[in-house]
Parts: sequence; C-alpha cells; structure tokens
Amino acid sequence: MNTTTKIHGNKGKRRPDMVGNQWGKARLGQPSNRKGIPCSEDTKMLISKRMTDLSWTGEKNPNWRGGVSFKSYPIEFNNSLCKFIRKRDNYVCQGCGKIEGKELDDYGRRLAIHHIDYNKNNLDYSNLITLCVVCNSKANKNRQHWISFYSSITTKIYGIYS
Ligand SMILES: [Zn+2]
Repeated sequence: MNTTTKIHGNKGKRRPDMVGNQWGKARLGQPSNRKGIPCSEDTKMLISKRMTDLSWTGEKNPNWRGGVSFKSYPIEFNNSLCKFIRKRDNYVCQGCGKIEGKELDDYGRRLAIHHIDYNKNNLDYSNLITLCVVCNSKANKNRQHWISFYSSITTKIYGIYS
C-alpha cells in the first residue's frame, strides 16, 4: 500500500513536475520567440523604412536640391525675405526694369534675389536686390562693375552702402 502509494505519489508528483517544466519551458520559450522574431523583423522594417525615407529625401526627392541650396544659405534667407525684397523693388528687375509678370510668362519663375557683394551670408537689405534671370547671370561677370552699379541703387534706399 505504502509502496503503491509512494509510486503513485511519485508518479503523481513527477507528472505534474514534467508537465509543469514542459509548460514552463514552453511558456518561457514561446513568448521570447514571439517577442524576439517579430521585434527583430519590426526593427529591420523600421530601419529599412528609415533608410528608404533617407534615400528618398537624399537623392530621389525632387525637393532635395532646393534643400541643399537652402542649406547653403543662412536660415534667414527664406521666402519672406525674398518677398520683402521683391516688394521693396516693386517686383521689377533693378538691372533692366523687367517686371515679375513678364519673368513669369517667359520662364515661369519669379524674379531672383541677388546678393550684391556675392556673399550669401550678407543678408543686409542693402546687399539684396531684385534681378531677372538674365541680369542675374550677367552679374556673374564684371563683378566689380555690378557691385558698384547695384549698390548705388540700394544706397539710394538705405544710405551709405556698407
Ligand atoms: Zn533684368
């Protein structure tokens, strides 16, 4: 009786222990596997998405060139400053008198804001002037001539050109 009881008892204890261990292993194993695999996949997906986003903004995004050129300017050189200068110059090219409407008709673009001293960091109003694309490209040659030419215009507005 005692033996059978002990055997039964042992069997009875072993089975639950075995089952318990198996369940314990299963419970420990499954969640970790479930957490591990999807997490790594999620992470890879996130990384790949981020990489895709970066590559998109970096090379394929058509706005990227604008972003680069914008970065080459100080933050203050933005649309509102350009609008301010264009408005100051009555939306007229200060080189040839072409109006912005004509520039839009010809090239589909607004008049450009030219840095008189060619220093993109010099955002003094007296250093910025409204030019059409033709006058803007002309200004790349004979720089000293155009510096004195355009600075004389802004000097009339702001006083002595610095
Ligand atoms: Zn012009």
